[in-house]
Amino acid sequence: MAEIYSHSRLSSFEDCPRKFQYRYKLKVPVDSEGIEAFVGKRVHEVLERLYGFAERGLVPSLNRVLERYRIWWDEHFDAARVRIVRTENDAAYYRQLGEQCLSNYYRRCYPFDGDETLATEERVLFPLDAAGEYRIQGFVDRVVRSRDGALEIHDYKTGQRVPSQRQLDSDRQLALYQMGLAKKYAGDGPVRLVWHYLLPNQVRSSSRTPEQLEALREQTIGLIDRIRVETRYEPKTGPLCRWCEYNDICPASPVRQERASAEPAPAAEGPQPAPRRQLPLI
Ligand code: SF4
Repeated sequence: MAEIYSHSRLSSFEDCPRKFQYRYKLKVPVDSEGIEAFVGKRVHEVLERLYGFAERGLVPSLNRVLERYRIWWDEHFDAARVRIVRTENDAAYYRQLGEQCLSNYYRRCYPFDGDETLATEERVLFPLDAAGEYRIQGFVDRVVRSRDGALEIHDYKTGQRVPSQRQLDSDRQLALYQMGLAKKYAGDGPVRLVWHYLLPNQVRSSSRTPEQLEALREQTIGLIDRIRVETRYEPKTGPLCRWCEYNDICPASPVRQERASAEPAPAAEGPQPAPRRQLPLI
């Protein structure tokens, strides 16, 4: 059975082949999580639950929504496991960012009856080719039937940055989801890709022509072919190395090099620093 790819798996290879190797080939265990991802998970969970209630006509108050967020934050947060790279900010700062995301969304979409929710956190798994050699999977935050009959694929983003329209018009993730959802929700109406940038409280949308989807299918197959024959997994250093979960084992990591140059030379006697993670044998 052919390996299953996802947008994040493909992006990982594009961002840094070495990181891809650690994560997907060597499966180096990671016992920590970036705070940005942690906030994103909690916000997504709460919005999924909110729509579950809203679909039954039981829209909770904003206070209840925030209360649920705080409860799940406290249940999951472990300071020893959640990494904060921007150390000028503490956990309370990030917790508040999540609250801001939820408050913005709630106030903008209340009472959540402007469209029909067809599914939340829907798993998409589909082949890009007839033989099923190139399979893609992903999770759609919310599948929507809008009032004008269009099928909409909604995605929540918890970061600060809003990409340009040009970038969104060539975004791969939601366009792949459109391909995966086409059969299940096929109709004559248009399909819209919709991004909710929760922190800056902005919404963006885009659409794809059949020709653009076909081009994306071919590009994605080409990328998977490149990944399959890759053997070197060259490191690609850059600002993202600070957030890389393997920056303590990657020999090219600027973070690791900075740490090494800051560490005092080991004393002849006395306590020694804890050993760094070792790569698994392959
Ligand atoms: S530290 Fe940088 S170069 Fe090394 S694997 Fe991570 S992202 Fe790639």
